[in-house]
Amino acid sequence: MVVNANPAPFAWQEQSWARVQSWLYKGNMPHALLLAGSPGIGISEFAMRVARQLVCLEGVDCGNCRSCKLWDDGMHPDWFAAEPEEGKKQIKVDVIREAINHVGKTAHTAPYRVVMIHPAEGMNMASANALLKTLEEPPGGVVFLLISYQAGVLPATIRSRCQHLGFANPTKEQTINALTAAGVVQPGLAAAFSGNMPLIGNDLVDQLKNHAQIIQGINWVRDLDVTPSYVVEKLPEVSAIEWLSHMQKIVMDAVRLKLGAENNELFYPDGKESMEDIFNHKTLPNLFEFNDFIVESMKSMQAGVNFNVTMLAESLILKCL
Ligand SMILES: [Zn+2]
Repeated sequence: MVVNANPAPFAWQEQSWARVQSWLYKGNMPHALLLAGSPGIGISEFAMRVARQLVCLEGVDCGNCRSCKLWDDGMHPDWFAAEPEEGKKQIKVDVIREAINHVGKTAHTAPYRVVMIHPAEGMNMASANALLKTLEEPPGGVVFLLISYQAGVLPATIRSRCQHLGFANPTKEQTINALTAAGVVQPGLAAAFSGNMPLIGNDLVDQLKNHAQIIQGINWVRDLDVTPSYVVEKLPEVSAIEWLSHMQKIVMDAVRLKLGAENNELFYPDGKESMEDIFNHKTLPNLFEFNDFIVESMKSMQAGVNFNVTMLAESLILKCL
């Protein structure tokens, strides 16, 4: 048996990586893994690397065998990714059936056939039931990789049939290193802003820029008689949910500042003085109420309520005054 000498995809995943390597080395790879943790910390990248190793003819992600080459061409017959359709949240039962059917046949080339379900909470009741039947009597040589960002909401029947593999968030230092390696100019600021989730989107730098502009915009409205709609027009690419998320970070920072937080405890330390100015006249209960409004709006949005971006953004700005 050869050992995969490659490191984990990310420095903060070495422990989980070692567990998978140990299962493979001992030949007791579980037939279903539940990979659980926060979004933006590389769990799907981890799952893809495990899948690649599982289908490698040498069992080590060699990069040279026929199977690895098929993988690199993006057309491996023993691999299936069950994901929601573009722009949707649910993984339909048809997709799960197709996945099961796909790996139910004999392997084409690989030692294992692999199905990734991403995110597992995207499965509706019918999808989960279809998968459950297969997990109860798993076909030999098949590995299911369920990725979950909210493992608590998965049916207990599914969870109990998976081997759990938890992923901790990277430390601040690991986040800064990852962001530096990705060429982010202010890695310290970006790490704080992301809440130590360095892969939360490749647009972290844009988000930081927008964040600074929103804080500046609130100041303009307050001090320069600029209208909120002018500020909103300046940020056409910021969506409704992003407005809420920026404003939540601003409000949370304002709360922390009122509680005497240090710079390194803020999402956006560069905005400290502006935020102290803006929220000087607000009390903690005011800010918590503001945060409640944001949380409620986020919930309605997730439940499918459509928000007019301009109206929402303007009302958020006005709430800061
Ligand atoms: Zn290979």
